[in-house]
Amino acid sequence: MVNRLQGKNAIITGAAGGIGLETTILMLQEGASVLMADISQPALSSALTKVQTLCPGTHVETIQVDVSSESSVKAMVEKVDSWGGVDIMFNNAGIMHADDADAIATPEKIWDLTQNINVKGVWFGCKYAVESFRRNGKVKGSVINTASMVALVGAATPQLAYTASKGAVLAMTRELGIVHAREGFRFNSLCPAPLNTPLLQDWLGDDKEKRYRREVHFPSGRFGEAIEQAHAVIFLASDESSFVNATDFVVDGGLTKAYVTPE
Ligand code: NAD
Repeated sequence: MVNRLQGKNAIITGAAGGIGLETTILMLQEGASVLMADISQPALSSALTKVQTLCPGTHVETIQVDVSSESSVKAMVEKVDSWGGVDIMFNNAGIMHADDADAIATPEKIWDLTQNINVKGVWFGCKYAVESFRRNGKVKGSVINTASMVALVGAATPQLAYTASKGAVLAMTRELGIVHAREGFRFNSLCPAPLNTPLLQDWLGDDKEKRYRREVHFPSGRFGEAIEQAHAVIFLASDESSFVNATDFVVDGGLTKAYVTPE
């Protein structure tokens, strides 16, 4: 399908990473203008080169942003005001720190860092998206916030700060969806299962046991792919999902519905 996002302006945070990059490509192919935002300038530059090769003739720009800094997020949104205002905000940037562990072992500074990026960063993104929608007289707006399936089920492999942060994303998104519904602004959470992206795969490395402990839970026997999340985001961003609001949109290959899966 093409042109489902024709004429819409989108911001994607964490755009140089797994889900963000695949979503950028699909959004451009569907006719949106996209501002790719990420904290890493080198990663943004190489992502932009890839995107421009795959999607010639589309409107894509980049901006370096730290989503945990309010002034940085404000500047990011103001850039898209000069295009006519934001229509789609994909608050996708997030971290899962290697030192994140259980209640005893998680250092306070890792807890704070994780909440600052994963929760406060999403709040800032929502706040400035709403301001941009209003400033530019939008009667429709779609905000998609990346949570995780660990916000829905407890994991026996603890990353407590991360899990708590994604639970907060779910709760915040739900409330924003209700508060702004009569303005035509929708807020939905995306809940991916573990994926083949650097965020997880770098951390798993060659550790076969660690990998198996996770893979075994998938009914399909495999991790998800970033592109499978990106397709869901396109639906949530487009007017096709006009009556989908305040939902926990789960894209997990059935993992959160499984009791046991075959060896
Ligand atoms: P990724 O690591 O490939 O991409 C994340 C991107 O966010 C990176 O490019 C990174 O530079 C950027 N980023 C980090 N901190 C930032 C900050 N302060 N400001 C701006 N950008 C920042 O990861 P991904 O798998 O594409 O993850 C995207 C989202 O999906 C994250 O919120 C993550 O928690 C969530 N998620 C991932 C998985 C998975 O298995 N990969 C599963 C569930 C949820």
